[in-house]
This record gives sequence, structure tokens and C-alpha cells, in this order.
Amino acid sequence: MNHLLLELANTRQTYRKMLNLYWLTLVLTIPLEFFIHRSHSAADGSELLGTLIIQALGLTAVTGSTEMLYRYRKFQSDDLMIIAGIIYASSIIYVNPTIGIVPAIYIFPILTSVLSFNKNRILLAFSLVIICFTGLFAVSPELRITMQPMHLVGILFLYVGVTIIAFNISNSGIELLNNLRSATEAKQELLVKTVIMDKLAKMDALTDLYNHKTFHEYLEKLIEQNERNHLSLQLAIMDIDNFKKINDTYGHWVGDVMLQRVANIIKETVTPNDFAVRYGGEEFAVIFTEKTIEQSLRIVEQIRQRLAVTLHPELDSQAVTLSIGLQDYVKGDGKEALFKGADASLYSAKRTGKNKTVVQTLRSDHKGA
Ligand code: GH3
Ligand code: MG
Ligand code: MG
Repeated sequence: MNHLLLELANTRQTYRKMLNLYWLTLVLTIPLEFFIHRSHSAADGSELLGTLIIQALGLTAVTGSTEMLYRYRKFQSDDLMIIAGIIYASSIIYVNPTIGIVPAIYIFPILTSVLSFNKNRILLAFSLVIICFTGLFAVSPELRITMQPMHLVGILFLYVGVTIIAFNISNSGIELLNNLRSATEAKQELLVKTVIMDKLAKMDALTDLYNHKTFHEYLEKLIEQNERNHLSLQLAIMDIDNFKKINDTYGHWVGDVMLQRVANIIKETVTPNDFAVRYGGEEFAVIFTEKTIEQSLRIVEQIRQRLAVTLHPELDSQAVTLSIGLQDYVKGDGKEALFKGADASLYSAKRTGKNKTVVQTLRSDHKGA
């Protein structure tokens, strides 16, 4: 049985319902047999009562022990269910051998075996039915009288027919569950793919920072919010100094490694409220929210200073430096003005010696050590 079927078999409520059904059968069968025998035969009443009491005790013992195991040990066994069904049916046939239709009752344990969706179990039920019926036929002279050859053929036909139907129900159940499993798996796979695609579309593959497109979408939303709710907002544009030289001297792959190092330092230094992106090439940007310009300046300066003291073996133990332009958002200015301001500051940082942060609103430069 596959995993899903097993899970289903363990979580279903059928076992409890089947147990209830056995109790109900027990309660109904004994009085019914009593009345049928009283009205149809002149047999000794005390002998009948004795047989019925033994039957009732036997069935109570079987159902009771199955119930105990289920209740106190959480034990569920489809085999036990089938065997209990066989015992019920056999005892009913044994007590009522003269009623021609009664051996048909063996179809119930066969049908019970379908509940496990297991072909071997259906075969087990069918084999037990044949063995028990043969046994009853051998020990009960009344049953032999009742079951004429035509009856025997008919009853065998019934058992085989019900078993074939049981196989088909089980197959169809297995097929259905397999389809359900593949559909669930396909859905999960699609979900994972969507999440991955979504991430790929939003992130920069080299640095694992947000990409240019996401940056613009996010910035637009933030500016809208700023206009409505006075949310504080700053933009920092950061450009690696003399990056072309790094590429030319050490090769592009070293350039790529440096881009990742810079990105990591940015990621480690900004707070969860900030939005860091690789803007393009060797340029990065950070959007700061819910901070004063002084707080944002402190963070970008931390980034710049950390980087300036980090020496890279790939660059013969030299550091990579950043020039940064920081701009505070002024309500009503719009995205373009914010950008132009940050860009102008970055340009000013480059022109006046690099490895520094320029903030226009504060009109002060921060030169690194
Ligand atoms: P400045 O200090 O004025 O910023 O000078 P710079 O050399 O950093 O700037 P420039 O614009 O002259 O050169 C940027 C270089 O960055 C050129 C380009 O080949 C390189 N570059 C852009 N994207 C990548 C990348 O993904 N990987 C690598 N290795 N290099 C890149
Ligand atoms: Mg550049
Ligand atoms: Mg540069």
C-alpha cells in the first residue's frame, strides 16, 4: 500500500463504525433467532436458549476484545475485523442451518475486507469464507440437507461474484487515491515553482539583493505612503570606487566576488525595515524608512567604514571602497527629485575624493578614515 493510502487507512473513522455495527448485529441477531426458531420449530426451548446464550457469549467475547484493543491500545486491525465478521457469519449460519438464504451472510466479511483497499486482504476474506463454509457443511447435517447442489453452485457464484466486485471497488479506490496524490504533488510542485519564479523575478542572482525592477516598484509605493502618512524616507545610492580597475587588474570573477562581499556587508548592516538593492553594475541602493536622516546616515557610514577596513586576499589584501549619496525625501518632491538629489550627492562624493558619504540636506561631507 502506498503512503497516502496508509495514512488514509489510519485516520479514517470506519473502524469505530464497523465496531458499532458488530454490536448492533449482536443485539439484533440473538432475539431475532430466538423468535424465528420459536415460531418455526417445535424443538426443545431450553436447548435453543442454551445455543443462543453460547452464541451471544462467543460473539460478545470476540467483539468485546476487539473493542478493548481499539479503545485502550488504539489497536486497529483490518484482519481482526474480517475474522470477527467471519465468526459472526459462521455462528449465524451454524445456528440457522435450515434457512436456505443464510449462507449468503458470508458476503459481509468479504465486503468488510474492501475497507483496507488491499487485494491480499480480500483474498484472505474469500479464502476464510470458503474454508469456514466447507467446515460448517461438514459438521452440520441440517446444512447439508438445506444446501442442495444447485444451492451450493449458487452460493459459490455469490461468493466469487462479491469477491470480484470487492476487487474492482478496491482497484477503483486505489486509482482514485493515486490520482489524488499525483494531483496534490503537481499542485505542490507548481506552488514551489511559483515561489521560486517569484523570488527570481524580484532578486538579483549574483548578490541576492532585490533587483532594479523591484526597487522602483517598492520606492513608488513608499513615496505614495509618504505623501499620505508622513512616513519618513531616505534614499542612498552607493557606487564602488574604481571598480573597473579591479576588473581589469584581477579579472571579472574577482569583480563578482567583490560585488558579493559589498552586498553582504550592506545586508548585515541595514535593519529589517530597510530595503537594499543592487541597482545595476557596481551600484547599490538602500531605501530607509521610519528613520531620521541622521540615523540613516549612521547606517550608510557604518557600511562604508566597515568596507574600507575589510581587506580582501583576492585584491592582494587591499580594501574596496564605496562612495555614497544620501538624500532625504521632501514631501511633494516626487521620485525623480529624490533620485536626482541622491545622484548629485554621489557625484559630489566621487568628484571630491571617493570613499565618502555626501548628504545634500545636511550640506556636510563624511570623509572616511
Ligand atoms: P568610479 O570610481 O568612478 O565609480 O569608477 P569605476 O571604475 O567604478 O566605474 P566605471 O563606471 O568606469 O566602471 C564600472 C565597471 O563595473 C564597468 C563594468 O565592466 C563593471 N561591471 C558592471 N557590472 C559588473 C558585474 O556584474 N561584474 C563585474 N565583474 N563587473 C561589472
Ligand atoms: Mg558606476
Ligand atoms: Mg564605480
